[in-house]
Amino acid sequence: MPMSNEFKQRLYPILKDVIAHFDTPFHIYDETGIEKTGRALMYTFSKLHGFKEYFAVKALPNPRIMEIMRGLGFGFDCSSTPELILSRKVGARGEEIMFTSNNTTQAEFAAAFEDGGCILNLDDISLIDRLPAIPELICFRYNPGPRRTGNAIIGNPEEAKYGVSHDQILDAYRKVKKRGASRFGLHTMLVSNERDYAYMVETARMLLNIAEWISRELRIRFEFVNIGGGLGIPYLPDDPPLDLKRMGEEILGLFEGFSKKHGYAPKLYMESGRYMTGPHGVLVTTAINRKDIYRTHIGVDACMSALMRPGIYGAYHHIEVFGKDIKQHPLEKVDVVGALCENIDKFAIQRELPKIETGDVLIIQDTGAHGHAMGFNYNARLRPKELLLEKDGAVSLIRREETPADYFATLDFKQDVLRLKQPQQP
Ligand SMILES: *Cc1c(COP(=O)(O)O)cnc(C)c1O
Repeated sequence: MPMSNEFKQRLYPILKDVIAHFDTPFHIYDETGIEKTGRALMYTFSKLHGFKEYFAVKALPNPRIMEIMRGLGFGFDCSSTPELILSRKVGARGEEIMFTSNNTTQAEFAAAFEDGGCILNLDDISLIDRLPAIPELICFRYNPGPRRTGNAIIGNPEEAKYGVSHDQILDAYRKVKKRGASRFGLHTMLVSNERDYAYMVETARMLLNIAEWISRELRIRFEFVNIGGGLGIPYLPDDPPLDLKRMGEEILGLFEGFSKKHGYAPKLYMESGRYMTGPHGVLVTTAINRKDIYRTHIGVDACMSALMRPGIYGAYHHIEVFGKDIKQHPLEKVDVVGALCENIDKFAIQRELPKIETGDVLIIQDTGAHGHAMGFNYNARLRPKELLLEKDGAVSLIRREETPADYFATLDFKQDVLRLKQPQQP
């Protein structure tokens, strides 16, 4: 089930007024829904002492949303300098931030060490020698290679660019231990948008096994294992949701088993993005043109700059025509398109929707994660605003729409010309 009935019941009665005030297009996020999902996640793992979710900032990098995450007691998973800056701006410090970068620059490492540092999650053994210093607490991202298969979005671990290989992982910990590290974590991320909870259970099992092996070899203890993000959400109306309860029970069983055997267990960390905010956002856009050629194209006032997933992954996003029930209106098959000069700029292809007139409002669902954040500016298309439907029913602007001045901002620079001397003629 895409957008929840509760979100609908909160949003639809006020939507006309919201549009009259803010104008389309916009993404709007549901604070109540986000908090509910966050609490459910914490409840699921409440028996695991020290469980922590590090919200994957890249899914929805908006400070107001990140404040909600902080209110839930979550930390942040970052992979770039601006994401670190954002996390610190909303008050996160030190071990409330996990820095999981890949192909990392020296400048990014320097930023990671600033301002109270963070948990460093290294993506390669060669990076040990390139760090400004070896922190007391250190983590590696593990890539199991052919030992596991990933899912469609992430692909096969063996082909993926991420993580430390199985053959190198023991040496990696040996090396940092020798250089003075005394606290250890282990991380992996193997799937994306996976609704089969068994994947996550297998990942937890795999990490506990690796932790057990390395602990034995090096006489160390792991403070935490981090199973990454990748929890899936139902984008299609008939998709069954991920079974969080069973996932929690089975993972709990694994940790209890570890604890019985060793007298302690690492803490469980997780870094969900999509699962936390995905279903709690929609893109609201108005039909502005209707074009009947070989197909019927409904042109809307948003485009790929607001939501890339259909264009780049062929992803399905459920669409409702505001005020037109699919059961009571005559349907027609249409393409819902943006204005980019790219034929992939379509929110839906040959979708049966209630007959749309110019001026109708379309609700494109499940845009709360990897939606606005992924948008680009190709074709000088600007990104829309973001709104928050707050717990008390108020609607606030949490990011304004881009303007041409934003687009031109990088053209405002100091002249800088390098004129090399012409090579001498012999
Ligand atoms: C993208 C990403 C996440 C979040 O993924 P979701 O599918 O949104 O849960 C978590 N960890 C890392 C390292 C990532 O790159």
